[in-house]
Amino acid sequence: MEKQTIVVKIGSSSLTNDQGEIDEQKLSGYVEAIAALKKAKHTVILVSSGAVAAGFKQLGYPSRPVTIKGRQAAAAVGQSLLIQSYIKKFGQYQLVPAQILLTRSDFSQRERYQNAFSTINELLDRNIIPIINENDTVSIKELTFGDNDMLSALVSGFIHADQLIILTDINGLYTDNPMKNPHAEKYSFLEEITDEVLASASSEGSKVGTGGMKSKLEAAKRALSLGVSTFIGKAEGKYSLLQVLQGTGDGTYISNKSMQPINTKKQWIALHSESTGKIHIDSGAEKAILYDGRSLLPAGITDVQGTFVKGDVVEVYGQNKLLGKGKVNYSSTEVMIEIKKRQEQGKLAPSIEVIHRNNWVTFK
Ligand code: GLU
Repeated sequence: MEKQTIVVKIGSSSLTNDQGEIDEQKLSGYVEAIAALKKAKHTVILVSSGAVAAGFKQLGYPSRPVTIKGRQAAAAVGQSLLIQSYIKKFGQYQLVPAQILLTRSDFSQRERYQNAFSTINELLDRNIIPIINENDTVSIKELTFGDNDMLSALVSGFIHADQLIILTDINGLYTDNPMKNPHAEKYSFLEEITDEVLASASSEGSKVGTGGMKSKLEAAKRALSLGVSTFIGKAEGKYSLLQVLQGTGDGTYISNKSMQPINTKKQWIALHSESTGKIHIDSGAEKAILYDGRSLLPAGITDVQGTFVKGDVVEVYGQNKLLGKGKVNYSSTEVMIEIKKRQEQGKLAPSIEVIHRNNWVTFK
């Protein structure tokens, strides 16, 4: 089998028990399966939850804390315990893990985003296993990745993974809750995550984790949009992750032939950048950028809102809706001057490209 880049996501309930302790046996099982992937020369990135769930007991809480400061403090205790266990267990296979804690603002700032990208690639080049988690201790609610399912999807797009494997304690997606309905049937393969499928999935997570099947499907949908196939299911046993790659995993596969990988710069524009302004355009410009593969020129711009500088990202609105986002080559003041020039001189005014095609992302 060809060497692949795999992102494996493991949730809190797969790594810890209800009492707020790491389940060393389960963790060993996953490490063994990842070691088998590494032995087969695949590149592996682990997105691991469990910091809060592994830390609350030692922090003195009887169950997962409900306050933000309680969760953040529990994560500070638990994250180090978690990494300690991973270092010990991976060490048995002569594998070295590295801890990466990310917040959304690390992704929204282009420089930090690029740094994270280079660091992860350096680690992978050196055969290290990056273990990524959200930096819960400093993340604030409004600025999180949502949950680690979504984080794993974003990471898999970011590093252009071949496969995202979201592990959970149920072996895939069912037509109904299999615990309650014995006639519920498993989906072995899905080409897309429709609104119907999303609506039928439960958003309930476990006592120790967040998420639930719904967040896994939302993550799979995001991964698909970034050109990455996803598997949601169980992996028990040494060869279980290799079996997932071979197509015989115990779960649901989500992939689609028309998936297109998106380059990292465009992912940043679409998913992470913060817009500093809005540009409204007419129907001619809308057609040009959506269907003709053109850049955005001042001629089609009908209104500019907000103050932006060269290199900022703005939202572009058509007649009825938000069309997409793009990185501007000119400031809002310069764009206004250009629009005025066009109004005064008509077609004689030399045109500029306000947003170059390569820095434009259409929203579907
Ligand atoms: N980052 C959280 C933790 O490690 C978990 C978030 C999630 O499960 O989605 O405890």
